[in-house]
Amino acid sequence: MEVIQMVDLQGQYKKIKSEVDDAIQRVINEAGFINGPAVANFQSELASFTGSKFVVGCANGTDALQIALMALDLKPGDEVITVPFTFISTVEVIRLLGLKPVFVDIIPDTFNMDVSQLKSAITERTKAIVPVHLFGQCADMESILQIAQQYNLYVVEDACQAIGATVTFSDGTVRQAGTMGTIGCTSFFPSKNLGCYGDGGALFTQDETLAKKIKMIASHGSAVKYHHDCVGVNSRLDAIQAAILSVKLKYLNAYTEAHRKAAAFYNHHLSRCSALEIPVTAPFTTHVYHQYTLKLLQPKRDQVQMELKSQGIPTAVYYPVPVHLNMGYRDLDYAEGSFPVTETLASQVLSLPMHTELNEEQLSFIVENLLNAME
Ligand SMILES: *Cc1c(COP(=O)(O)O)cnc(C)c1O
Repeated sequence: MEVIQMVDLQGQYKKIKSEVDDAIQRVINEAGFINGPAVANFQSELASFTGSKFVVGCANGTDALQIALMALDLKPGDEVITVPFTFISTVEVIRLLGLKPVFVDIIPDTFNMDVSQLKSAITERTKAIVPVHLFGQCADMESILQIAQQYNLYVVEDACQAIGATVTFSDGTVRQAGTMGTIGCTSFFPSKNLGCYGDGGALFTQDETLAKKIKMIASHGSAVKYHHDCVGVNSRLDAIQAAILSVKLKYLNAYTEAHRKAAAFYNHHLSRCSALEIPVTAPFTTHVYHQYTLKLLQPKRDQVQMELKSQGIPTAVYYPVPVHLNMGYRDLDYAEGSFPVTETLASQVLSLPMHTELNEEQLSFIVENLLNAME
């Protein structure tokens, strides 16, 4: 049996090696390293794939979130509502810009924003909501957009884990993760569902003025060279990464299917174990299984992880510490117990290997050993 990994980037590369190698060579031949044609090509391909009017590449997903918030002209002290159960970037950029993160808890089934708590978190200083489409399924965007409209708030989607996931609205329209809010953000970190071979990210918007502003902020606040209309950052999608992404985008639907197939295998074989809960997908969204995350209903996660590790099966905990309980975020003054669902889940979640190259032999081996470890 092939060695089991959380993510198998080498196995995936082998199958597209000649295409990727050619694409990289082409960028080197044309020397269009910075904002070359490879970047423009990928941006327009991603726009048609997602149905987004505008796509602007940038250096990584964290920058995408920061640039999005900068483009909305928020003032220090303005409040941004998000969740404490996410990768740190979501909240880090809010703090970096001197804004105030305000948390609402998540739903225990889907790990996404509990929209029923949104209204009570809104104050006069609230300017934006940042829902996170965690693990590959979308937050309840229809409700979030409704509330945002009612209170005149921006919505910045953190779609770093959910590229390719869709939401079906009650009027029947279907929209992709990242393209529903004022601005959407994604990451091409290697292990993401559409990952490059280094860092990369992108922003989505349907608003031309905002798209121009985003582009300007990402290039030193400049639309015309050496004229700086605002304070910006230097955050570009590397041309070699863009060329790789153009190749991989053609396979994204197949990759998503591979994730779903692995998830279906896990679901089928793990659903009968009463000591754990398999992932639940909300009815309005599809799931691209960036992570396959279980809830262990017994307090022996460390032991289960250790037993699996001894069999050569890696697992991971996303995320062991809720954002508000991290040392660097204690000054937000959210005491332990502030977000009981998040805090409970942080001690229960366990993510299994999930990638495009998992075969049935590996999946069976993982399931068998996990069921043994749970006994
Ligand atoms: C990966 C990720 C980010 C950050 O993306 P980078 O490209 O690593 O900067 C932000 N938010 C979430 C939810 C992520 O998973």
